[in-house]
Amino acid sequence: MTNNIYFFLLFCLICSCNNNINSDTENTIPLVDTMLVVDSIHRIKLSFVGDIMGHANQIRSAAGNRENLRSRDMKDFNYEPCFRYVKPIFKQADLMIGNLELTLSNKGKYTGYPFFKTPDVFARYLKNAGFDILTTCNNHSNDGFLYGIEHTIDVLDTLGIIHTGTFKDQNERDSLYPLIVEKEVDGTTFKLAFLNYTYGTNGIPTPSPAIVNLIEKKQMLLDIATAKKAKPDLIIAIIHWGNEYWLNEHTSQVRTTKLLWENGVDVVIGAHPHVIEPIKTDTFWREDSTGFDEKIVAYSLGNFISNQYRPNTDIGLIFELELIKNSKTNQTVIGNHNYILVWRYIFGRYNRKLREGFDWTYTAVPVTAFENDPKTALLMNEREIEAMNSVSTKMRAHLGKWQSKERIVKLEELGTIVPLIIPHNEEQKIEKKEKSEKQDNKKEKGNKEENFESKKTTS
Ligand SMILES: [Zn+2]
Repeated sequence: MTNNIYFFLLFCLICSCNNNINSDTENTIPLVDTMLVVDSIHRIKLSFVGDIMGHANQIRSAAGNRENLRSRDMKDFNYEPCFRYVKPIFKQADLMIGNLELTLSNKGKYTGYPFFKTPDVFARYLKNAGFDILTTCNNHSNDGFLYGIEHTIDVLDTLGIIHTGTFKDQNERDSLYPLIVEKEVDGTTFKLAFLNYTYGTNGIPTPSPAIVNLIEKKQMLLDIATAKKAKPDLIIAIIHWGNEYWLNEHTSQVRTTKLLWENGVDVVIGAHPHVIEPIKTDTFWREDSTGFDEKIVAYSLGNFISNQYRPNTDIGLIFELELIKNSKTNQTVIGNHNYILVWRYIFGRYNRKLREGFDWTYTAVPVTAFENDPKTALLMNEREIEAMNSVSTKMRAHLGKWQSKERIVKLEELGTIVPLIIPHNEEQKIEKKEKSEKQDNKKEKGNKEENFESKKTTS
């Protein structure tokens, strides 16, 4: 009997608990409120790449032949293949951002390292590929001296590419820096502040009256204060720093990141080492003490496109970062973030029949989209497949130490795949050569057979 009462009481207790759970759930999150919460959450997707380089062989590749190398006619250069397989990924971003590590020129004397002067039309291809913002502040900002700084700014302005980091003079810096970008996504406007600094300019002094932003604590703190006055949703700093070819961040990068984070910068994106360095996060008290915020740093995104051959310089990241704005509280926080591995592929590099540079094709390959079939469209040979696979595996393991997420890009995401082809003239030349070689072989074979036959008849 006592047992029955006990079970009855237990049954009542469970029922009342269930009722409580149901009624609590209904009371605390009514349907209408749920919709309001969902409606007040807005997202923007930012994508970043690292160093966009302009080495001599890249210029030769775009020119296609020696005569075009000094051309002032921008139609003589083609950079389309560089972006062919990443363009659809770039277009998925609400803002696409990269570091332009070269100066633009229309003077006909285009050069690679150590003074990067790339034909103006390269910027048009960047625009077409989907770049919205380019940072111009790096150790190569002064490669074209005053002309280079001013002309690069003019070309980007003409094309409507937003840029920051270098300025024609103090007045321009005062009125345009920090860069404030207002971007509307699905009816919600995100107001973002961008900062851009470099450790130096390869010993080339910045020609007066131009300005190249340097990593200087006092100036950076003043700039952050100016940015805050504009009341941005978030502050993003893009920094050119670190040690070349180091896979891990230098202590100076850690120090600068901490300084920026502690003073209100939320996102720090780095480049210059030409290799990938870790992506790390930390949590900080909000300045208004309403809670914690996550802050993020990508110490180096590596090269986007270049002609560098040192270990690990042939791979870089597209870093995708989601920002989430709550329009009810007016707070913006860091949401999902992931990386896409992009391998710099030089099609034709190992074909001895082709002319170095002129007949090569530089292209940025999203690894996951092509690693199952690198031959059909990309015509990779075994050596190239091995190079792409081994550096990708290495970088996955490296970034995995800090739990960075890789996004798998499916081939279907890239739309119609236009395969690479050997430059038309060269293809014909090679075909002709191979044909005549075959004919020569045939003739030779025929002669030998003839001789054999004649020998046979004579013997
Ligand atoms: Zn650099």
